[in-house]
Amino acid sequence: MDIEALLTMLTTEEKIALVSGTDFMYTNPIPRLDIPSIRMSDGPHGLRIQQEKGDNGTSNSEIATCFPTAVTTSSSWNTDNAYKMGVCIGEEARHYGVNVVLGPGVNIKRNPLCGRNFEYFSEDPFLAGKMGCAEVNGIQSQGVGVSVKHFALNNSENFRFMGDSVADMRAIREIYLKPFEMIVKNSSPETIMCAYNKINGVYCSQNEWLLNDVLRKEWGFNGLVMTDWGATHDRLEMLKAGLDLEMPGDTAICRKWISDGLISGKLPPSVLDDAVRNVLKLIEKHRNDKALPADFTAHHEVAKQIAIDSAVLLKNDGALPLDKQEEIFVCGELFEKMRYQGAGSSMINPALYSSPKIAFDNNGVCYKYAKGYLENQLETKEELITEALTLSADYEKVLVFAGLTDYVESEGVDRANMQLCKNQLELISALIKNGKKVIVILYGGSSIELPFADSVSAILNMFLPGQNGGNATYSLVFGEVSPSGKLSESWPLTYSDVPFFSEFSKTKTEVYKESVFVGYRYYLTANKKVRYPFGYGLSYTKFEYNNLIIEDGKDSVLVSFNLTNVGNFDGAEVAEVYVKPPHNEVFGALRELKGFEKVYLKKGETKTLLIKINKEDLRYFNVKENKFVLESGEYSFMVCCDVETVKLKGELKILGDEKRAPLYDSEITKIYAHAKLEEVTNETFEKMAQVKIPKEPPVTPITLESPLSDMRKTKLGKVLHSAILSVAKNDMRKAKRLPDGIEKDNKIKGALLLERTLNTVSVNNASMTAGKSMPYNVAEGLVDLSNGKILRGIKRCVSKIKAPKLPKNTRR
Ligand code: BGC
Repeated sequence: MDIEALLTMLTTEEKIALVSGTDFMYTNPIPRLDIPSIRMSDGPHGLRIQQEKGDNGTSNSEIATCFPTAVTTSSSWNTDNAYKMGVCIGEEARHYGVNVVLGPGVNIKRNPLCGRNFEYFSEDPFLAGKMGCAEVNGIQSQGVGVSVKHFALNNSENFRFMGDSVADMRAIREIYLKPFEMIVKNSSPETIMCAYNKINGVYCSQNEWLLNDVLRKEWGFNGLVMTDWGATHDRLEMLKAGLDLEMPGDTAICRKWISDGLISGKLPPSVLDDAVRNVLKLIEKHRNDKALPADFTAHHEVAKQIAIDSAVLLKNDGALPLDKQEEIFVCGELFEKMRYQGAGSSMINPALYSSPKIAFDNNGVCYKYAKGYLENQLETKEELITEALTLSADYEKVLVFAGLTDYVESEGVDRANMQLCKNQLELISALIKNGKKVIVILYGGSSIELPFADSVSAILNMFLPGQNGGNATYSLVFGEVSPSGKLSESWPLTYSDVPFFSEFSKTKTEVYKESVFVGYRYYLTANKKVRYPFGYGLSYTKFEYNNLIIEDGKDSVLVSFNLTNVGNFDGAEVAEVYVKPPHNEVFGALRELKGFEKVYLKKGETKTLLIKINKEDLRYFNVKENKFVLESGEYSFMVCCDVETVKLKGELKILGDEKRAPLYDSEITKIYAHAKLEEVTNETFEKMAQVKIPKEPPVTPITLESPLSDMRKTKLGKVLHSAILSVAKNDMRKAKRLPDGIEKDNKIKGALLLERTLNTVSVNNASMTAGKSMPYNVAEGLVDLSNGKILRGIKRCVSKIKAPKLPKNTRR
């Protein structure tokens, strides 16, 4: 239907309804004008479709294929994997009548403890952007839209609902916005989801600079921008800033605010019309979407292939691969209860499933098994370790299944530390002490301290391999395929090596003092030793690089070289091209990833690779001129097998833009140029970034922006908070009564997530997410009650908001 014509037919109430969601995952329909709903679903590595009441991952959903999560897929360094996965997700979305998938998530992994790192691709914007583009292309190739999230600087979980990410413009542009920019410019995503947090004091959902100036005007985005679930604050400011759709909606207060704003003149009707236009455009695109069948069995196989291609062999003294004829000893409960996905809004009810145990049994592996520890506990059970030691007495090699569990890693909360659970660490050290050749198979969504790395024979990291991770593990362990993944994030030796580790996610104000020195950009430049560098991964075979040729194309640099598989296995290598610019005008990392390719080589085979580096990607962001600039001068091009190991190197002079004066004064440059981050004080950062670090807001009095857990700080607040939390406690009790199995595990994870969310969510967010069950007047009432203003609080709780009715609830 003609959108402009529709706009003239819509009443104000109907327009107001259109810019808000309903029933958790839908847009509002307008039955009178035959305007249907858009249906959405999480995302990003499979679907979480709920038929009745929707939530953020706490209850069951329709079956769907659980693909490896982003940390896994990105470690394959093969964008075809992200594309193929996207195609399958798109097919399943069509099967269920879903029009828009909420993903991919392309936030940068700034700190290893971010609880949601498993759902994000990388610490490097180029890799994250490439993977994100491929997934978007895959999903959208099926006629299904995406919502690229969380725009932007949502890099921690503890204070995500009200936190303020304070950062300098170079880091914002070169690191944090880059993947979004790449996707918007190259893959035309249908929608973008804004993040919960603020950037330099302004909530993303009402950030005019972010949404209108950068996203729409500068990058040319012409799709729809929606909120993350409940990220609404000032609805009028949001509309003015270019935020179209408020999700999940059903918030009477927002309808009232918009209606009052139009009457008072605070909201120009044209601003509302712009948002309505974007919603209608999306609806029209999907009006004729047809449901198609999806092949869940084929998708199970795709999930396995991606998991195989992504696993990273971190260490191997020759113990792997194992011989199928050899009887082995296996321990660690993750063998039976493999962790294959993360907890939270991305939690999928898998269509099919293989654990390593299922895979070993189906393939007739001869093994003896002891649990060694319990997956759902943190503490050691001595008797389980003793049993493992006794039963392993006759075996030389021991395969230990270990990793991060849902109890220590999840959406909604940052990890407390970078360690494996105590019970797992104690099992591994007991086996080492007993003189065993220990082979560790790891699962988990983020980097982990590995104090035992030097004492074990091999470590194979499967990350979160998705529903077919068991079969993938089997294929790699027994050498059907050689591991070929490379780390998409650095693995520091210990958490205290991470820049500003002690400040991370401790307060609402998160200061990005390291600027552009995120991940390897810091470790490499500051010459800090890591356990395993970015881009690192071993293979059962070996590769040789030679014949480097660097040529200046017009808008690009062409880097070509030969790669040969010189070992005894067929295998695959990821060739990574890093570039060091002249750094005359600005400080920066010793080298940055600018190109990569994964090559599959039979043993003895050689291929010539040609990697094209776009000169545009070599620019830095000049904060004074507010634009990207290409320095003129000598650039080094390095072909590496990980960020630390240069295989081939050459130089090229590039004629860039006119020479600029250095961006920073010598004092700042002296510190930042060598990434001496221990010398960066708040004052140095403020001077470099040209921003003022705001004062941390006080805990009391309670405000709409307080996390619910702060309510415990007042007398009545404490009572209210425990009443609210009892919902999660009840869910947990019910879940624990279920018989053992996937359903029980999922329900326990759901209850845990609910408890974490109920502690970290702000009063405002709780109301904006809960819509009808916790209307805004009740949220305001709760704030008053918590602050001891009892009469006013009660009055507010009972004064219903008078707002225009939703068209779906009015008679035609
Ligand atoms: C998450 C989003 C998710 C949304 C809907 C939010 O809490 O941050 O990533 O898409 O919920 O489930």
